[in-house]
Amino acid sequence: MIDLHTHTNCSDGTDAPADLVAAAAARGLRALAITDHDTFAGYRAAVAPAREAAVDLVCGIELSTRFDGAKPVHLLAYFLDREPEPEFHAWLDEIQSRRHERNRKLAVRLAELGVAIELEEAEAIGRTVTGRLHFAQLLRDKGYVEDINQAFTKYIGEDGPAYIPMEEPDILESIARVRQSHGVPVLAHPVRLAIHNPLDEEAAIRRFVDAGLLGLEVYHCDHRPTSTLRYLGLARKYGLSVTGGSDYHGSVKPHIQLGSGWKNNVQLPYAILHGLRSRYQNLSPVGTATA
Ligand code: AMP
Ligand code: MN
Ligand code: MN
Ligand code: MN
Repeated sequence: MIDLHTHTNCSDGTDAPADLVAAAAARGLRALAITDHDTFAGYRAAVAPAREAAVDLVCGIELSTRFDGAKPVHLLAYFLDREPEPEFHAWLDEIQSRRHERNRKLAVRLAELGVAIELEEAEAIGRTVTGRLHFAQLLRDKGYVEDINQAFTKYIGEDGPAYIPMEEPDILESIARVRQSHGVPVLAHPVRLAIHNPLDEEAAIRRFVDAGLLGLEVYHCDHRPTSTLRYLGLARKYGLSVTGGSDYHGSVKPHIQLGSGWKNNVQLPYAILHGLRSRYQNLSPVGTATA
């Protein structure tokens, strides 16, 4: 089995990169992609431990983007380790400074709501990439809410009084940038697009395909069987590679298990990674030269 969507404590997961690799090995996972939000730091720190543990480590990243200027959408990108583009890294730095600015405003808004959480406290837990999940932990630990979920519903979720939107890059631009850097862009957990009319959902996905999308995260802990089947059909129709992962975050989301998702709803054979890699090798001039 494999897992192509996981987070370390370099973004908003709780496991250190080496511990995540060890957990993957202990579970008998043959391959693991680290897809931290907006950073490669966790992946980089996991390269040596993965080599030692004989876990096939895949470079990934989960980018926070926007669709039609309003809707937050997550875009996964794989294989950006082989040909590092300075431009891509400069773009990531920009994204991180916008995130920092959002976090600063978020702390101010929380203070206005009578919540005593300093930006520095969140950044102390968040380290490389601080996000709302770190604020959620503080809200819980300081007793403002009972659990992480309530932190989102009561304060920092999209409908909450302390929601501060991030200035995120457009998804179409993001897909293009990943392609320019020879990565494989994959739409993360499409169910979270939350487009309830299947025709509208398909139209959105078609726009991403036209922009260069290459894969669809068909298997994800949030997908129920009917959604999974729908996305499998869309992936076939538009020639998208099928991917999947648990979206493991460690102890902060204890109901999600590494390699198996929520109640074992994610079970991915190695062939999934093989398919994604072939896709990548067919794109890359280096990969095709010997093929
Ligand atoms: P950010 O990128 O800082 O805006 O934070 C988004 C992250 O917060 C997501 O990647 C999830 O890990 C987490 N998150 C968002 N909504 C929820 C929720 N309702 N419950 C738990 N975690 C959430
Ligand atoms: Mn997250
Ligand atoms: Mn996501
Ligand atoms: Mn994720």
